[in-house]
Amino acid sequence: MFELEKIVRKNVWKLKQYSSARDDFQGNASVFLDANENPYPTQVNRYPDPHQQALKERLSVLKQIPANQIFLGNGSDEPIDLLIRAFCEPGVDEVLIPQPTYGMYTISAEINNVPMNTVSLTPDFDLDVPEIRKAIKPNTKIIFLCSPNNPSGNLLSGDRIVEIIKIFNGIVVVDEAYIDFTTTPGFVSQLTSYPNLVILQTLSKAWGLAGIRLGMCFASPAIVTILNKIKPPYNISILSQVAALEGLSSETRKNEQVAEIIAQRNVMEKALRNMASVLHVYPSDANFLLVKVKDAKTMYNQLVARGIIVRDRSRVLLCDECLRITIGTPQENEIVVSELSRL
Ligand SMILES: *Cc1c(COP(=O)(O)O)cnc(C)c1O
Repeated sequence: MFELEKIVRKNVWKLKQYSSARDDFQGNASVFLDANENPYPTQVNRYPDPHQQALKERLSVLKQIPANQIFLGNGSDEPIDLLIRAFCEPGVDEVLIPQPTYGMYTISAEINNVPMNTVSLTPDFDLDVPEIRKAIKPNTKIIFLCSPNNPSGNLLSGDRIVEIIKIFNGIVVVDEAYIDFTTTPGFVSQLTSYPNLVILQTLSKAWGLAGIRLGMCFASPAIVTILNKIKPPYNISILSQVAALEGLSSETRKNEQVAEIIAQRNVMEKALRNMASVLHVYPSDANFLLVKVKDAKTMYNQLVARGIIVRDRSRVLLCDECLRITIGTPQENEIVVSELSRL
């Protein structure tokens, strides 16, 4: 049985939420002398809304989820760190991370002195449920799953994700940073069924807003309350909140760009498959391709010499001689293909 109180760190459970100046007073007023701000108006002389209500209401409609089940962070990296800090006693509790995957889960665990346990994904980068089941220990508090997975690009099997959510009495994080590039709805609609499910999404990829640092976390109201207790009060700047609202108003443009990127991904996949130096192009549900080549290091350096930067993943588990190539504009993709075919 999953019981939230049993898995949250005791000090965090007992914490009272910091009450910022903007929390203490609610209602209408015209003279704000409570936060030691400079009174002379610019766009940004006031502190931002610590709860980002306007933005959450917009996301609530867009994602079909109540606003009290949304937590917003300074990129997804912030909720990743806050989740580890909320649930894992440093030096005692563990996180479980199937590999290969996004590196920030490991970095955040290491920064917090939280031991990490790993299992390998299957050779086709899906979940190995029996191995995960074996790896779960009494002190395992969080399992990080990434779907579509970075760096492999594939969606994890939804049935296997559900299996893990059901057998595990801790938190299962499903990172859906690339969900907009797939045709699946993702797990947001299943939050009501699973109190231990936490979903991460971001405005950094499909929405084209990596620079504003806006990560979304969807979870039960109880888990959101815990994250709110431990976040820095003003973690999302006014500039980011305004830019996010503005960006979210161009859903059509986002959808058009996603369609173009997927079309380009298919073009790239075909072109790369025809190259003698390319051994395998892994199927992708995201905006990048994992490509196994004859000599990753040499190819990486040759591309760098031509001003083209891709990601060398060849030192990562199951990714021997692999490069990860983000899908760019048609012109950029053409440059990559023509340079590669000339190597
Ligand atoms: C890019 C990426 C993110 C996004 O992180 P932000 O901090 O929101 O920019 C999250 N998870 C994965 C797996 C990613 O690849």
